[in-house]
Formats: sequence, structure tokens, C-alpha cells
Amino acid sequence: MSEPFLRCRAVSKRFGQTQAVDRVDLEVAQGEIFALLGPSGCGKTTLLRLIGGFEAPDAGEIELDGHVLASSSRFVPAEKRRIAVVFQDFALFPHMNVGKNVAFGLPNGADRKRRVGELLDLVGLSGLDGRMPHELSGGQQQRVALARALAAEPRLMLLDEPFSNLDPAVRQRVRAEVKQLIQSVGITAVFVTHDQEEALSLAERVAVMMDGRIVQSGEPAAIYEQPATRPVAEFIGDANFLPAEVRGGIASCELGEVRVQAGFDGAAELMIRAEDLALRDDSASTAEVLNVEYYGHDQMATVRSASGRLLKVRLPAGVHANAGDRVTVEVAGEARAFPSQ
Ligand code: ATP
Repeated sequence: MSEPFLRCRAVSKRFGQTQAVDRVDLEVAQGEIFALLGPSGCGKTTLLRLIGGFEAPDAGEIELDGHVLASSSRFVPAEKRRIAVVFQDFALFPHMNVGKNVAFGLPNGADRKRRVGELLDLVGLSGLDGRMPHELSGGQQQRVALARALAAEPRLMLLDEPFSNLDPAVRQRVRAEVKQLIQSVGITAVFVTHDQEEALSLAERVAVMMDGRIVQSGEPAAIYEQPATRPVAEFIGDANFLPAEVRGGIASCELGEVRVQAGFDGAAELMIRAEDLALRDDSASTAEVLNVEYYGHDQMATVRSASGRLLKVRLPAGVHANAGDRVTVEVAGEARAFPSQ
């Protein structure tokens, strides 16, 4: 990466007994869309609030565009950071129409009306300036919140769980629209989510946070395909874990011998994604399909293996599988080995 635009160095924040953020290092490039992904309570909102200036770190340093925002000797307050925040509930002023909500973010001066028009054009809401927030759909309210955030010409945009208030049916579409909007403006954006699909589909880079620490960061495909630890693998995607013995890049497990990329020999836990397993009908097998959830585009079977282990197997839509079927479970794709603890 060229010189990072946003940089956190060993940033920590404690609330009483809780170490919410623990020596976090983070670098985000200018114009990048970056996701902080992690389970509830991992500290991602606290980190976002530290970057925004709503909390002061106990230790560490935060820099934006070469300027120190927070350190042991300096603290730039939120309103001086030129950082916009889009909140989970969009935080529109309910008694103000759309135009006034957007104008609220504008610096004082001439041309406010023209600028509101431009911003509403930008977010695809031209002509709706007279509407009240309650007269808009969730997706439209979010676009008003984005327009208001962009009005102040921020250097950085922070988004806190920006899609969690939207109906699942529209979430995917709105996500794509927001990504396109952020990219068209070219603003650097950091957003927080506990939703792995959201992080992987929207961000150019993702940092996975657990227990206050960033445990892995990288491009979405690298996080998914090469999770650094078992907890990351468990958190992202549907992973099966099987005890195995690795020798020279071959793991022996109850499903047979599987080629793995492992830099070690010995006892291992083999991680195989649900989509990397396949089923073959086998009336002689003691492995059995317990249930199948049908999603339309694909389906997820839960299989009890010969040893009694429950395995998740993602099946293409056209494959017919039913509870009670006797099957052999085959490894059809990649596997990854972690040394046993
Ligand atoms: P969620 O997805 O549930 O919002 P999160 O990953 O954003 O979780 P944080 O909200 O950053 O997590 O919280 C991290 C930890 O710090 C949690 O244990 C939380 O209870 C604690 N915490 C956060 N803010 C405060 C506060 N103001 N006072 C005390 N404890 C806090």
C-alpha cells in the first residue's frame, strides 16, 4: 500500500474491566472501502468511535492524512476531524424535510439550495427534498443520511452497521447502490458490521476483530479462503472441522486422504467448507442425511458421518437429497489444516 490515509497504531480502549480495543494496528488507503467485521462485543463500534473522535484512546495513536487526531499529547474533537458518520438508524431529523436534513450537513454560505439539489441527484433522490423522513423507504432514508454526510465534504466516512435496519429483501440492492455511490465519490469509507456477507461483498479489504484485537486483515477472498485461525474460519462461512493427521501435505481424516496446504506435520484440525464437500448415494454407508434446507439457488444438507460427526454440505440446487438418505461424504474442493492445540 502507498502511504496509508488512515492509520491506527497500537490503539487501546478499556471500559472498567473490559478491554474493548486492544493494541489495534490498522491502515486504510485513500479511497478504499474497508470493513471492520466481528462478532457482537468484539470492539468494532468502539474502534469506529475512537476514529470518529467520540471516544479518546487510553493509548496509541490515530492519524488521518498525515495529521495526528489522537495520541498521548493530542486529541482533535469529533467536529474538527472532517469525518462523517452514518449511523445504524440513519439519525435523520424527523421534523425536518429531506432538503433540510441534507442542508444541515452543509457549511454556511451561498448556494445551499443548489448544493442540496446536487447531493440529492448524486444519491438518486432528485425532487424529493420536500418529503418528510417517515414518507421514505428505509433505503431512501439511508440515501438521505449519506447525502447529509457527504454535504460536509468529509475526508473519511464511517458507517456503523449501515444495512442492519433495512428489510433483508432490499438489503442486497441497497448495499450495491451504496458501494457504487461511495466509489463514484471516491471517499475513503470504513464500516462496521457483524455480517460476513456484507463485509465480503462491500469492502475492498476486511479486518476481522475478536476480543478487541484485529486477528486478520486482507482482501475478502483471502479472508474466506485462507482464514488465519480456527475462530476466523468458524466466524466466516460454513466450515466443518475434522481431526486429522498431516504428513507431507496429505491429511488423513475420517473422510479419507485430503491434499492440504500445511506447513507442518502432525495432529491437525482440518477445515473444509460446506461447499467443498459432496454427497454420493451409498446404501451400504452408515453416514446419513439428517435434514436439507432448500434455499432455491442452493441447499444445505446436515449429514451425520460414520463416526457420528455432524457435517454441513452445500449442494447445488438440482441435486436431490432427502433426510434418511444413506450417503458417502466426499471432499470435492480445498481443505485447510490448523495444528491441533
Ligand atoms: P456490537 O456488534 O454488539 O455493537 P461491538 O463489536 O461493536 O458489538 P463494542 O460496542 O465496541 O462492540 O463493545 C466492546 C466491549 O466494550 C463490549 O464488551 C461492550 O460491552 C463494552 N463497552 C462498549 N462501550 C462501553 C461503555 N461506554 N461503557 C462500558 N462498556 C462498554
